[in-house]
Amino acid sequence: MTQTTPAPAPSPIVTAHAQLAAAVRHLGYDEGTHQHLATPRRELHVAVPLRTDSGELRMFHGYRVQHNISRGPGKGGLRFHPDVDIEEVRALAMWMTWKCAVVDIPYGGAKGGVTIDPRGYSQAELERVTRRYTSEIMPLIGPGTDIMAPDMGTDEQTMAWVMDTYSVAQGHTIPAVVTGKPIALGGSLGRATATSAGVVHVTDSALREQGQSIEGRTVAVQGFGKVGSHAAQIFAARGARIVAVSDVDGGVRADGGLDMARLLEHVAATGTVVGFDGGDPITNADLLAVDVDVLVPAATENVLDETTAQAVQARLVVEGANGPTTPEADAIMAKNGITVVPDILANAGGVVVSYFEWVQAHQAYWWTAPEIAERLEHRMATAYVDVAEHASREGLSLREAALVIAVKRVAEAHKIRGLYP
Ligand code: NAD
Repeated sequence: MTQTTPAPAPSPIVTAHAQLAAAVRHLGYDEGTHQHLATPRRELHVAVPLRTDSGELRMFHGYRVQHNISRGPGKGGLRFHPDVDIEEVRALAMWMTWKCAVVDIPYGGAKGGVTIDPRGYSQAELERVTRRYTSEIMPLIGPGTDIMAPDMGTDEQTMAWVMDTYSVAQGHTIPAVVTGKPIALGGSLGRATATSAGVVHVTDSALREQGQSIEGRTVAVQGFGKVGSHAAQIFAARGARIVAVSDVDGGVRADGGLDMARLLEHVAATGTVVGFDGGDPITNADLLAVDVDVLVPAATENVLDETTAQAVQARLVVEGANGPTTPEADAIMAKNGITVVPDILANAGGVVVSYFEWVQAHQAYWWTAPEIAERLEHRMATAYVDVAEHASREGLSLREAALVIAVKRVAEAHKIRGLYP
């Protein structure tokens, strides 16, 4: 009997390159311009040694990639995850370039990562890893060159350590070197929930186009971290029914709606949605196939592939995560009449409020929560309309339209600036 093993998931860089190639074809650019847009501007691979609390020496690999800095400083998160490698960081940096361009903020795209499972280490160990990594990539980062933010496995405490390490090395306090900082260090009101708020704003825009509203819709959310958990709460607060959620350990489903307050208490006590007694256990594969109005993948890359996409029953998929959908899955969902709001638009709320945080740090003047919320909503709504109008005018999917708009903005910056020498 021959045993078939599932094909390995494609590297996210394969997806990112395929998306760029399609946009370049649509725009009619030559191969030289294509390669210029595809090639990362700078990459750094660093060794990150850690002396563990028990005295052992462990080695990790760290990366920082600046994909493009033609429209402004590099901007992008720092990921701590065991699957981090240079190709993933390259893909995430490229998506940051397009994301900043599609919401029209004056940044390029960058990303960083350390190949570590943060769940296996103490806070003191994670602080040492963060400080050593920051010190190693110091030549690349700075408030006018490359600005970090939290991503998977990192949080506002991580950003505080990065900011402190950088500031101590420079001899004075430089809050604008990171965003997603604690409020006490100059973080912005609304940053912690900005990505999720943006996910809900674009869902609202997409539903309105179909003559619907968030109230009364059913929603499933994969990933119950910074993006997924806040998105679920905001959806619920706006009258949607959260029928399924999951994290890396598994999921839970209740067709009548999950009690969010009790679920959050359970997660605070146990660290996972698994075992919540207000619903039935489901797997991550089940979650993607639940019959809901809105599916929000908010965990990691490649979860919607040619197999899982066939099972999606949601009418609308809103990508909280970066790169959750492979090109094959995109084609299947398009054929099945499912609208996909792409990552570079759907989860851009985080970088928009990061931009606000950076502006506030430069001004040393902080805005109120309503000011942040209003400006975020305006930015997201404007970007959604730009993308949706472009899509219907050119007969493109929302993803294709978002990429075409973004790639064109970056290519124009290259063209106007010219080549040096
Ligand atoms: P996080 O570390 O706070 O949470 C990640 C969640 O996903 C956790 O619940 C984890 O258990 C779950 N998860 C991880 N692997 C999984 C898997 N294979 N299957 C199911 N669940 C899995 O990270 P986050 O900041 O919420 O980021 C989630 C996604 O959103 C990432 O793709 C990230 O790049 C993207 N994103 C984050 C931000 C932000 O502001 N934090 C902004 C834009 C995009």
